[in-house]
Amino acid sequence: MNYSTIINFDQTDLVRTICTQKSADQNDGVWKYGEEGALQNYEALAKLFGISLSDIVHVKQTHTAAVRIVTREDGGEEILRPESVSGFDGMITNEKRLLLCTLQADCVPVFLLDPVQQVIGMVHSGWKGTANQISVNAVRRMQKEFGCRPSDILAAMGPCICGDCYEVGEDLLDPFAVYYSEEERSCFFRKGEKKGKYYLDLPEAIRIALQRDGLKEENITKPFSCTLHDDLFASYRKEKDPVARMLTGIMLV
Ligand SMILES: [Zn+2]
Repeated sequence: MNYSTIINFDQTDLVRTICTQKSADQNDGVWKYGEEGALQNYEALAKLFGISLSDIVHVKQTHTAAVRIVTREDGGEEILRPESVSGFDGMITNEKRLLLCTLQADCVPVFLLDPVQQVIGMVHSGWKGTANQISVNAVRRMQKEFGCRPSDILAAMGPCICGDCYEVGEDLLDPFAVYYSEEERSCFFRKGEKKGKYYLDLPEAIRIALQRDGLKEENITKPFSCTLHDDLFASYRKEKDPVARMLTGIMLV
C-alpha cells in the first residue's frame, strides 16, 4: 500500500498517521467506497498498523459539523457491521490502538493531536463542514471531554483541493458569512475569471477558525499536496469517480 504520513505528528512518537496514495501500476490506495474490494483494502490497512478490523473506526460522513467521541466499542463499524449512529463527520478518542479514519476525494482531512492529554481527532471537512466550523467543534469537544488546552493542540490538514483549483459559485459566499467576518472571508475567497465564480481556499478557512479558537499558528500545518493537481491522490473533480476515495487515518500508538 502506498501512502504518505503527517510527518510532524508521527515524529511525536505518540501517533501514527496515513494518507493513502495510488501507486503507478495499481489502484490499491484508492478506496472504492462501499464497494466490493473495500474489505481487502481494510485488511491491508489493519495489517500495516498491526491491528484488527475491529480496531478501525469510521463516521458516516454526511457533511455535518458534528463530532462524536469514539471508543473500542465503535470499532469495525461500516466494515464488519453497519454503523450504529450517523450524522457525524468527525471523531475523537483517547484510546490507544484505535485507528480513526475518514475517506475523501478533494475535501479536507483534518488531523488533531493533543500531545499533553494524548487525545486525537480525525475530521472530514468539505465546504459545508468548514463553513459550519467542524474543526473548531472537534477542538471544543477535546477541551470539554478530555480537558485539552487549545494552545497544546496540533492540527494538520492532509491532501485536499487547493485554493487555486477549487472553483465555486457565488452561492457559497452566504454560508461562510455565518461564522466568518468579511475581512476573514476575503482571505479565502478570491474572485475567479468567470462571472459569479470564486476560488475557495478551504485550508485557509480552517486555519483562521482554528487560530481564532486558540490554536497556535505554528501548530497548524497546511496540506502538503493538492488532490486535483497531484496525480497520487484521489480527486472527485479530476476523475468524476463517485466511489474513489483517499483514506486518511490517525491512531494513538
Ligand atoms: Zn490545486
